[in-house]
Amino acid sequence: MTVAGVVAATAGLYAQDTPKVVGYTDTPFLPGDKWHVHDPNRPQPQIVVPPAEGPFTKAPADAIVLFDGTDLSKWQAGNGAASGWVLKDGSMMVPPGGTPGGGDILTKDSFGDMQLHIEWCAPEEVKGSGQGRGNSGIIIMNRYELQVLDCYNNPTYPDGQAGAVYGQTPPLVNASRPPGQWQSYDVLWTAPRFKDGKLESPAYITAIHNGVVVQNHTELLGTTQHRQLGRYEAHEPTAPLRLQDHGDRVRYRNIWVRPLPAATEAQ
Ligand code: MG
Repeated sequence: MTVAGVVAATAGLYAQDTPKVVGYTDTPFLPGDKWHVHDPNRPQPQIVVPPAEGPFTKAPADAIVLFDGTDLSKWQAGNGAASGWVLKDGSMMVPPGGTPGGGDILTKDSFGDMQLHIEWCAPEEVKGSGQGRGNSGIIIMNRYELQVLDCYNNPTYPDGQAGAVYGQTPPLVNASRPPGQWQSYDVLWTAPRFKDGKLESPAYITAIHNGVVVQNHTELLGTTQHRQLGRYEAHEPTAPLRLQDHGDRVRYRNIWVRPLPAATEAQ
């Protein structure tokens, strides 16, 4: 290695060891907490190295398969087919900016309480930092984002990390795999209930990242927002699942849902 190479390698190591976390402290405080929304100073979730791969669970018999690698027929973009997303090697990928049929895509079907399995992969080529690296998102009921982000050696504000309820609750730990490797989320979702236009019971999420629990029956404050506190606005009992196009070429595969009966109905 040349001297310049040694210097570059050392500089890279230094950058990883002393990360500068970009965030916000001019944002509202989270309720009952000492941290601001997107606070860069709250503790970074502990790193837990997950198993090398999986769980890449195949859809059970009663699941609704939303993507099996072959087509995008269960999805739509804002005004039509999700034709911009790139189908390749059994996955679908966020397209380059401005691609017709790109942008966020939504399921044609709507869901409330559910079990969700989804696999994602951040771009192998590392570009950008913080929220600008491998950013996408699983936006449940078209309102509530479970963050997708390349969080391998990429510190960012904890409530914006992979497995965070964006802008509300950081993941319990950082169970990220390196970019270019497939990762999985398994989610149990309880939809919020509204009565006469008012919140009757909040949404709850349990999420498992690469086999590691990152959200444990976490209560949501409302819709997930950038730089703002989430708040609830009454909506239908079911709504589409949305995948975020944040400009990074994140891929998805093996997406399935099992709608769940409400607890009071599951007798
Ligand atoms: Mg996102």
